[in-house]
Amino acid sequence: EDKTKEQLINEIVELHNRIAELEKSETQGNIAELENMERRLYLEAVLTNAPDAIITMDAQHKTIMCNQGAEELFGYSCDEMIGRDIDDLIAGADKFEEARDYSKLVLAGKNVSATESVRYRKDGSPVEVMVAGSPIFIGNKLVGAVAVYTDITELKRMKHEIEEYSQELEHKVEQLQKLNEELSQYTYAVSHDLRAPLRALINYSRFLQEDFVDKLNEIGKDYIQSIAENALYMEELVVDLLEYSRIGRIKPKIIEVDLGKLLDNIVSKLHPGENIQVTLPKKMPIIQASELHLEQIFSNLLSNAFKFNKTPKPQITVECLDKDNVWEFAVRDNGIGIDPKYFDKIFGIFQRLHTQEEYEGTGIGLAIVKKAIEEQGGTVWIESTPNKGSVFSFALPKKNIEQFGKQTSKAKE
Ligand code: ADP
Repeated sequence: EDKTKEQLINEIVELHNRIAELEKSETQGNIAELENMERRLYLEAVLTNAPDAIITMDAQHKTIMCNQGAEELFGYSCDEMIGRDIDDLIAGADKFEEARDYSKLVLAGKNVSATESVRYRKDGSPVEVMVAGSPIFIGNKLVGAVAVYTDITELKRMKHEIEEYSQELEHKVEQLQKLNEELSQYTYAVSHDLRAPLRALINYSRFLQEDFVDKLNEIGKDYIQSIAENALYMEELVVDLLEYSRIGRIKPKIIEVDLGKLLDNIVSKLHPGENIQVTLPKKMPIIQASELHLEQIFSNLLSNAFKFNKTPKPQITVECLDKDNVWEFAVRDNGIGIDPKYFDKIFGIFQRLHTQEEYEGTGIGLAIVKKAIEEQGGTVWIESTPNKGSVFSFALPKKNIEQFGKQTSKAKE
């Protein structure tokens, strides 16, 4: 009554302000509470949804909390586990000491990193688990521990299966190696024993041609000629087969090979003919390898490069690259080339793309090349364009610190 209208208005405004302030602080409190609740719910959801069994315990090792994963893995309900020492429930007689040791460690503030073990379900059945444990600190105070158990039954089963498979595989590889050896011995024995009767066949057809020439008409002479040619071809096949079977059967002698010298010798032995231009690398290395294998590789690649070429001016180039851990070699020609669909086929034994009339050969050369390269831990590959030419490349691992050596006689300038 004694307040003026103005005073009253002022008081009302002040009251409004206070109410607004109160409302504001209350809302903030509510938001904080809501946030806390959300965080709790989130943590609970993480625990519930975790695929592993998670059990927390107090400093006396009594279970405080467990998740759905723990109920599912061990068959106890959380109510049955809470308040109990989890080791009494799931460690079993055989793992009790081990579980106790882990508990002591975590309650002393140490971590137990994931370790394979066995625990027991409520029905007594064992379950293979990975156990990990760590202490829980609030500030500096140790208030308990958390244990995580991962079911590894499936993992162990798969591991066991893989072990069985790999054992089986090892056994198969051994069998295969034995078979391979037997086959190689067999090829050797057969080709070796075929040589003597073949020689006789060649010699007798020659006697017939020499001593009975007047008793034979033209057809007879043709027949004998054909026998002699075929017997000679068969002898070539047998000799190549023997050479092929020797690789891998006889351990090669590893020596220092001067590749420059070796290439010069091979080229002059092959007599490439005046029209063929052969270019060798300016420098070739001296490497630790089997000289016999290197000779087989370069001789076959070079003789093929000379042979499968119809151009009036065949050009054959040998290349050598120093590639850190390997030497990379290439034999390049401008010959008839090969259709890419035959790239794999031609490295197989007796695989040829032409008739004997078109190009002579036994079809074993490239099989020898591949075997000799692989025998030394190397790889071979091919690039080619029909009617343009081919490049046969191969890489050989270095055995030592090897470097380029002397200049070759047909070197690139
Ligand atoms: P061969 O030379 O006795 O026929 P190889 O095993 O050495 O046997 O070669 C297999 C086949 O690969 C040859 O018949 C030929 O068709 C093809 N070949 C090999 N080298 C070359 C080359 N440099 N150019 C074109 N074709 C080739």
